[in-house]
Amino acid sequence: MLAQVVELIEKKDRFAITSHVRPDGDGLGSSLGLLWLLKSLNKDVEVIMRDPAPHSYQQLPGAGTIRVAPRIGEHFDAVFIIECSDLDRPGLEDLDQQFVVNIDHHSTTELFGSINWIDSTAAACGEMVYNLCKATGVRVTKEIAECVYTALLTDTGSFHYSNTTERTFKIASELVRTGVRPAKTAEALFGSYQWPKIELLSRVLSTAKRDDTGHVAWMWQTLAMQEQTHAAEEDADGFVNYPLAVGEVEATALFKETAPGVYRTSLRSKGDVNVAKIAEQFGGGGHRNAAGCTLKGTSSELEQKVVPLLQDAVKRSNGLKDFTEDALIESGS
Ligand code: 5GP
Ligand code: MN
Repeated sequence: MLAQVVELIEKKDRFAITSHVRPDGDGLGSSLGLLWLLKSLNKDVEVIMRDPAPHSYQQLPGAGTIRVAPRIGEHFDAVFIIECSDLDRPGLEDLDQQFVVNIDHHSTTELFGSINWIDSTAAACGEMVYNLCKATGVRVTKEIAECVYTALLTDTGSFHYSNTTERTFKIASELVRTGVRPAKTAEALFGSYQWPKIELLSRVLSTAKRDDTGHVAWMWQTLAMQEQTHAAEEDADGFVNYPLAVGEVEATALFKETAPGVYRTSLRSKGDVNVAKIAEQFGGGGHRNAAGCTLKGTSSELEQKVVPLLQDAVKRSNGLKDFTEDALIESGS
């Protein structure tokens, strides 16, 4: 819990910070936010990640100092692991030899740390880093503000998702007052891609299919598409959301081939449709409306496996809606 984290920071001096493989805006923003927080307290601290920061996050303060490595490689007083469902998710080999602090806003995380600070009310781990500033008395500097703002912006889908609350805007307001420029940050994150992304997008969108109900849609990205367009793996970020722009589409999948017959599968949904449960069945995880897992097989096998599960998830949420309406009728409201 938070009090244990504060006590640890007060007592110890040498820290490392990491997040999950293929780090995203919250993984990077909160790791670097925590880096600047600990630096403010004159701690010896380093961010170590298995994978480098994608191009659009290179502008984050401190991104250039991240050590990209397959292992921690030395002893630290504690290693902060941010936004990871289990000890394997950072993709670093030697974490079992460290004093680990697990920081996450997913309630489904395993309690793998010596200290576990889990806050499922936080919109992003970045919000938890902000709370840690308040708890340690560290002033929110411009560096911290930019990192936390990026975490909030990306994990709330630019303030679109249901984790966006009054609190999110309150924190964002303070961050802007500290010097964050929303338009500049948004442009760096969402308006600085290279042309191959468009070439890749056009190929991926051309595979879009939907089921008979129109509520479930899915798309493919093959290795061949990536080769033809010279796109980077991260260029596919965000593609899975496109079909959700259609009113009746409630759940989508993007099957992205990362090795022959191996597909990183991204799942997205609207409202009560729970795709995290589907990802968990296949060893992945995530949130109700955004989750992922890795699947192996042919494209028709994966379609037969995943599409019916998405259809079930949609049906179940419609059942929930019916139930609520019935309950309202019964209670006479
Ligand atoms: P994406 O589709 O963008 O790769 O992932 C969406 C969300 O699902 C992530 O923010 C993360 O919470 C979760 N997620 C994706 N892949 C995995 C996975 O392999 N394991 C777990 N535990 N969570 C995942
Ligand atoms: Mn997050």
